[in-house]
Amino acid sequence: MTPVLPRQDARASALAHVAGDVLLMAETAAIFGLSANDAAQMRRALRAGDAAARVELARIGLEAPAQAPPPRVDVHPVRALALTVSQTCNLACGYCYAAGGNFGGADTHMGWEVASKAIDQLIAGTVPGGGAKIAFMGGEPMVARELIRRSVAHADKLGAARAVRVGYSLTTNGTLITPEDAEFFARHRFAVTVSLDGGKDVNDRLRPDRVGKGSFDRVARRIAPLLAQGDRIQLGARVTVTPLNLDVRRVVEDIGALGFASVGVAPMISSPTGKGALSGAAFGQLLEAMIACGDAWLAALRAGRTHPFANLATVLEELHRGQPRSHGCGAARDYLAVDAAGDYSACHRFVRDPLGAMGNVDNGPDIDARASFLDARTVERQDPCQSCWARRLCGGGCHQEVLHAGRPACDFVRGWLDYGLRVYAQMRAERPEWFDVRG
Ligand code: SF4
Ligand code: SF4
Repeated sequence: MTPVLPRQDARASALAHVAGDVLLMAETAAIFGLSANDAAQMRRALRAGDAAARVELARIGLEAPAQAPPPRVDVHPVRALALTVSQTCNLACGYCYAAGGNFGGADTHMGWEVASKAIDQLIAGTVPGGGAKIAFMGGEPMVARELIRRSVAHADKLGAARAVRVGYSLTTNGTLITPEDAEFFARHRFAVTVSLDGGKDVNDRLRPDRVGKGSFDRVARRIAPLLAQGDRIQLGARVTVTPLNLDVRRVVEDIGALGFASVGVAPMISSPTGKGALSGAAFGQLLEAMIACGDAWLAALRAGRTHPFANLATVLEELHRGQPRSHGCGAARDYLAVDAAGDYSACHRFVRDPLGAMGNVDNGPDIDARASFLDARTVERQDPCQSCWARRLCGGGCHQEVLHAGRPACDFVRGWLDYGLRVYAQMRAERPEWFDVRG
């Protein structure tokens, strides 16, 4: 049965939200435990609108802060940089955000001049004693293996001279990894994310190579050296959820069976071809599947086992941290991408997209472009986010998806956060120590 997504009632108050016996204060993301009776009364008051909600909040000794006006946006130094070292790929996933790796242009690779200038600017902009991150992306970045190695050697040298710690990550389809690569990643403490969409049947339909052959067996073989490095590599898998792999629990457990301790999923909302994007009732099915997978994660924890589903752990950590968001992510604020042509963009998904253009390596990242992008995109300026109780947890969504596909997934987002709040309350009661190491 397809669940009914929790729609936001236009008359209801967005000052707060009640999930189970937990109250979320929308503007501050603060969380309070309520008695069952107070929770029921608060829920009724929120349905009746702001005035009733304020009266009820006052009765239980709380006050909803006024909704903040759009703040002055600070442009932070760039702390993380994605290098799209290869704008080509050996696979041909139909939904690919990079349109087969080349972002709609010609297949190309980044040259040393672009990579070294971008790294020079990143390290020069980082205060001594601070840290910087470099993410190697594509297309398939392992096509440009030599450039990755040269870039790491260069960044390590510059970082050491300026007392800047440089961390590395790689997002790969996994089909080209060698034992020597795994040793290199371990030596440099890489975080490696392998894109996979499920077990063999599902993955091979969604992730074929350029002649239509499935990629699962190759990936399963090629990741063995990564897994053999144990915790010297922070290894995870990432799933793009399309209408063909909506059974999230099965997908996550099939990938976990390969040896991944962490598997995260993300719904496909905008693809350049429109292929693979979720819409309408599929979001209800996705919510149901995510909750089933979350329940499996929780059951495993209670039984003293681990479960690889990363999304629930992430939402619990974010609720616990309680930091209200002004944007959905760090794109343009402290994170940028640079492409093979030397152009900066707000993130790796905005490569060759004028909506996210942020200057080039000849002149350095364009601070004005970053400031106006961030100013226009604060959650306070987004419609309908101002009247959504989840605004400070969601931050208004992925900029790239919103600019290209709007906001078709808001009911799903609210449903997932409502579930996260309920599990948070259970975990705080049953396993408070789980949060200790996660801050
Ligand atoms: S994008 Fe996020 S904050 Fe905005 S309306 Fe949708 S769920 Fe709410
Ligand atoms: S804009 Fe979207 S794709 Fe880019 S970093 Fe933010 S969430 Fe990720």
